[in-house]
Amino acid sequence: SPRAHWLFGDQLGPHFLTPGPDGPAGNAPLVMVESRAVFRRRTFHRAKAHLLLSAMRHRAAELGDRITYVRAETYREGLRTALGDRRATVHHPTSRAALGLVQGLPQVTVLPARGFLVDQESFRAWADGQAGARLRQEGFYRWVRRDHDLLMDGDQPLGGRWNLDHDNREPPPGDRATLAVRAPYRPREDEIDDEVRHDLDTWERAGEVRFVGRDGPRRFPATRREALAALRRFLADRLPTFGPYEDAMLAADPVLSHSLLSSSLNLGLLDPREVLERAERVYRAGQAPLNSVEGFVRQICGWREYVWQLYWYFGEGYRGANRLRHRAPLPEWFSALDADAVEARCLHTVLAQVRDTGWTHHIPRLMVLGSYALQRGWDPAAVTDWFHRSFVDGYDWVMLPNVVGMSQYADGGRMTTKPYTSGGAYVNRMSDLCAGCAYRPDVRVGDRACPYTAGYWSFLHRHREAFAHNARMAQPVRGLERLRDLDALLEQEEERGDRAP
Ligand code: FAD
Repeated sequence: SPRAHWLFGDQLGPHFLTPGPDGPAGNAPLVMVESRAVFRRRTFHRAKAHLLLSAMRHRAAELGDRITYVRAETYREGLRTALGDRRATVHHPTSRAALGLVQGLPQVTVLPARGFLVDQESFRAWADGQAGARLRQEGFYRWVRRDHDLLMDGDQPLGGRWNLDHDNREPPPGDRATLAVRAPYRPREDEIDDEVRHDLDTWERAGEVRFVGRDGPRRFPATRREALAALRRFLADRLPTFGPYEDAMLAADPVLSHSLLSSSLNLGLLDPREVLERAERVYRAGQAPLNSVEGFVRQICGWREYVWQLYWYFGEGYRGANRLRHRAPLPEWFSALDADAVEARCLHTVLAQVRDTGWTHHIPRLMVLGSYALQRGWDPAAVTDWFHRSFVDGYDWVMLPNVVGMSQYADGGRMTTKPYTSGGAYVNRMSDLCAGCAYRPDVRVGDRACPYTAGYWSFLHRHREAFAHNARMAQPVRGLERLRDLDALLEQEEERGDRAP
């Protein structure tokens, strides 16, 4: 009988079953294990737990008799039940912990990863070939575009430029509360979702697991069919305006022109290749401008791929990186997603988006949530764990480079050239969130002092020696000298402590 094939819960699309020398046997019986222990280890957002279980159970229902679906305490136990002493294959999983597990099982053969464009060996060769220079996403991105013939005209980028970012990054339109594009695709729940919700209620009531956030109705695709519908809707309705408003924030329109596809890509419901090909087709059909399509393609084949590769390339030690020696624990109001405790309108709005949906786009993650944590010196490992637990698309591989590196600068600059943080002026320029706020972005001391503006200066002050040597930070650090109210500001920030702003 053929070897069985084991699917992890983020290997749900058809591309994980394509047979071949690097894939499972064509008629391999399939196995999936739903481990309860996963939910005991962390306090997840309930919508995330719901999405994951719903997606796994939907996949099992689709595969019918071909799959043995086991609910167990741990993976190990579940596998024992499902496999006995039969041999099995599995595609390379997406976390170090899971890789360690499968490599330690003598009956299991690990096949190469799927769901990414670049394999680890090619990446290592590229990275090692950077001759001691710092790794940069832009160089990686160009290599991937060439190598995979994405938006190319021969060996040159379509339109003559690799990166059209300066046509993008526009503030939101000043006269509108929403972008006025068609509402994004949202799935409809079915009886599998009812069953999932019932199970989560039961576990919670029994005190077995704890969750944060609100659950329901489910907002993200749990099946291939739903994910394709979401993709089609995005390509038709939002891709044309993706570029210009990529970095903008609007209180009444959290999605703007973003794709909402991260959870579907990370569950493996969509293959990045098909997403890229279809986006390119939209451009070639003249249905979206190059700056939007290039910006979107860069997110997928630049950033997403890069982050995946760095997770493995940087090694296990990266998890504990803490170059700025930030040690403060997360305050309870933040951990619990208690948006109502927060007065600052930007943080209140974004934390409420996370509480209610488990999602917010990249700028609120970076410049509102992450920036606040960085300014207050919260422990980067705890911040990483918080993002992992609270977001529907959060997985170990994607969190580590994005949070430890990109957002918390805990790696001392391996991922970015300077810390991503700013005073309230940035939020004010890129959003409508400062209007009607109790604080003023241009005030640093006193009752109306913006916590981001004050936090920014106090952060720079704390690290002024380290940053004086960073080419991109030296000038802001010199700005500290002009602040005559610095002592009062530092006292005020000390006094604010970890109270909700
Ligand atoms: P779009 O803006 O429509 O982008 C398209 C796609 O590009 C996304 O669906 C995603 O698959 C990919 N992408 C873009 N940037 C990244 C990136 N930096 N890393 C990985 N994929 C990227 N993304 C996650 O998928 N999971 C996370 O846990 C996650 N955590 C983040 C934490 C921080 C602090 C920051 C700054 C970013 C994080 N990101 C994460 C990246 C990005 O914010 C989300 O992928 C994006 O907001 C998801 O919404 P979307 O699908 O509408 O994305």
